[in-house]
Amino acid sequence: MTRILNINNISRRKLLLTAAVAVPVTALASLSAEAKVAQGSVMYQAKPKDGHDCKACKLFEAPGSCKQVSGSISPNGWCMLWSPKA
Ligand code: SF4
Repeated sequence: MTRILNINNISRRKLLLTAAVAVPVTALASLSAEAKVAQGSVMYQAKPKDGHDCKACKLFEAPGSCKQVSGSISPNGWCMLWSPKA
């Protein structure tokens, strides 16, 4: 009887621990898939830098947005996440 009770307690504890870990991990995964960074945090500017601009970046989404940076993005802009299209 005591043994069965202990097994039930362990199972309940494992279930609660699993849920306690799984919920935050799931929440973080959905946030990282949707979250964008602020323009100021990546030094976004509305003009090219060193010949690089947003329209040549693989993260640019025409006509004026970016997969990683929030807000309106100029095709002629630039930020420190710039990465060339393949
Ligand atoms: S340079 Fe920066 S803001 Fe422009 S498209 Fe690339 S990642 Fe987005």
